[in-house]
Amino acid sequence: MKKEVLSDIEAKRYARHISLKHFGLEGQLKLLNSKVLIIGAGGLGSPVALYLAAAGVGTIGIADGDEVDISNLQRQIIHSTDEIGVSKVVSAKKSINTLNPDINVITYDTFLDETNMIKIIQEYDFIIDGTDNFKSKFLINKCCVKANKPFSHGGIQKFNGQTMTIIPHQSACYACVFNSPPPEGSVPSASVTGVLGSIAGMLGTIQATEAIKYLIDYGELLTNKLLIFDATTMDFDKVNFQKNPDCKICGKKA
Ligand SMILES: [Zn+2]
Repeated sequence: MKKEVLSDIEAKRYARHISLKHFGLEGQLKLLNSKVLIIGAGGLGSPVALYLAAAGVGTIGIADGDEVDISNLQRQIIHSTDEIGVSKVVSAKKSINTLNPDINVITYDTFLDETNMIKIIQEYDFIIDGTDNFKSKFLINKCCVKANKPFSHGGIQKFNGQTMTIIPHQSACYACVFNSPPPEGSVPSASVTGVLGSIAGMLGTIQATEAIKYLIDYGELLTNKLLIFDATTMDFDKVNFQKNPDCKICGKKA
């Protein structure tokens, strides 16, 4: 049911949004009536889920088939030590609802594949790619283009992060920029190269901010540009891209 007024408690909880110019009561109602799906309850999914929950995104879907491991806790701040061995989506839901009990959390305790992903993403307004491997990232891009769902791509490695926002059929997609996944095993995973825990927070909060901007329809999204940062120097750069007409995912011949 669409929410059209705020309760007194909600007005207090979201007071800093309501007093914010260009956000206001209208923006808050848009968030409360929005649905965001976060794919991956890990390093990126953690800050995204917590900030979207705090912001009052009415429905948050969270998909992950993994369980909490002690090695996750260095960066996956939605989970805690007493959740080791527990399903990540169960642990994430508990943290989200501790922060904000009004959020409707829908959990998918599974790794999404092409068949279930297309079906699930239909239910949402915006998708967050919080995965940690190229195969999943290309699959999310393919499904979001097919289902015409906007999404935020995010990736972290070592001391570096990158993110872009994709509005299918309007802006460059992930495959316009990166073409195809690198051969399996050619790029070492974070478990091999390591990753600075705090950069998951840096990148994830940018993804959460992009989702909120899209949902309240304010500001300029990171479309047609890849934001990259190097935390060792704190250099942030934006690299411009165009939609590739020959892209095999979103191009004319796709
Ligand atoms: Zn494309």
